[in-house]
Amino acid sequence: MASINKNYLKLPGSYLFSTIGKKIKEYSENHPDAQIIRLGIGDVTQPLAPEIIKALHSAVDEMGNAETFKGYAPDLGYEFLRSAIAERDFKKRGCDISADEIFVSDGAKGDCSNIQEIFGLDNTIAVCDPVYPVYVDSNVMAGRTGEYDSLTERFAGVIYMPCTEENGFLPELPKEVPDLIYLCFPNNPTGAVMKKDQLQKWVDYANEHDSIILYDAAYESYISEDDVPHSIYECDGAKDCAIEMRSFSKTAGFTGLRLGYTVIPKDLTTGGDKLWPLWARRHGTKYNGAPYIVQKAGAAVYTDEGRKEVEEQIAYYMTNAKIILEGLKEAGYTVFGGVNAPYIWLKAHNNMTSWEFFDHLLDKANVVGTPGSGFGPSGEHYFRLTAFGNREKTIEAIERIKKL
Ligand code: PLP
Repeated sequence: MASINKNYLKLPGSYLFSTIGKKIKEYSENHPDAQIIRLGIGDVTQPLAPEIIKALHSAVDEMGNAETFKGYAPDLGYEFLRSAIAERDFKKRGCDISADEIFVSDGAKGDCSNIQEIFGLDNTIAVCDPVYPVYVDSNVMAGRTGEYDSLTERFAGVIYMPCTEENGFLPELPKEVPDLIYLCFPNNPTGAVMKKDQLQKWVDYANEHDSIILYDAAYESYISEDDVPHSIYECDGAKDCAIEMRSFSKTAGFTGLRLGYTVIPKDLTTGGDKLWPLWARRHGTKYNGAPYIVQKAGAAVYTDEGRKEVEEQIAYYMTNAKIILEGLKEAGYTVFGGVNAPYIWLKAHNNMTSWEFFDHLLDKANVVGTPGSGFGPSGEHYFRLTAFGNREKTIEAIERIKKL
């Protein structure tokens, strides 16, 4: 008889976005005329840029021609894409990362979830609280944590690093030394960023204690301030302790196409073992997660014209972020983020819980956001709005909130 992986049962039943979906459905059924505006979901809304579409069309044509047809992609991804990434994302920023240290994938979610598989089950993990839930969830499923405690809203055995208003939403170096440290900057959901000297302290800490940093830079293209690093490899010694994950989803609108990559330096080791060859054997490596067509579309993002077009989209979202940020400040809210990230993190009015504030906003303004507590216990009393909506609806939503 087959048995299940009981670790999956440790995950609390109701997932954040399904609860939100249920609440919206219920509200719409009871208020059929309500014009609900969604400023909560972390998905892009702008269509793919023309250069990307052009690359897709031409790659599709290649697939229909015997001379240019492509079968399985190479294990690490196509060289044309990996060298463009190495050049534009790393060498241009002074990072010594080469094309063969880049593993192309079908997006950062899979990489962020699966990267833990190359590490032993005896490793302790540290995560920011609040943060993108995938890091904890994947370690729970793997069996690297104890049970979930619904009172503390934490899993036993995980080192949670609170990110609060007091510490500027930046974690403090943990006293209990973790083996694996997940960092995500610019942060989802708080929008916080680390300056280079702040991130350097984490790199030094990891090198001193033989920890590995798993650095999620999915929102790197939203960085607008000069002293904020785009990659952890901008810090000295990061190649000795860090793996970095990136995504084309929010950078270039690939949430539906699927493309990302993970950087593992060739000489990065733990306990004397190299990590690069382990990730080279990861699930699905033979077929590579991203099809040729999509990798061609990804390469278009690195052409001058493609870059210009995706930067315009990012600027569009960041104008939305500014509208939200300034509007909420005018309305008397305490707000964070929104400068180097498409996320605006606000404090709920009148000490409401995150879910009370969700209901309040849905009922009184017909605006949907994401309760901060869904990203970790330190997110309680906070709320996330995103800049990914269209301009008119974003303005309308903020006008409604101002009138509350
Ligand atoms: N990392 C963070 C911090 C995210 O917020 C997301 C998506 O919301 C991802 C990774 C996943 O990105 P992808 O669409 O490439 O799987």
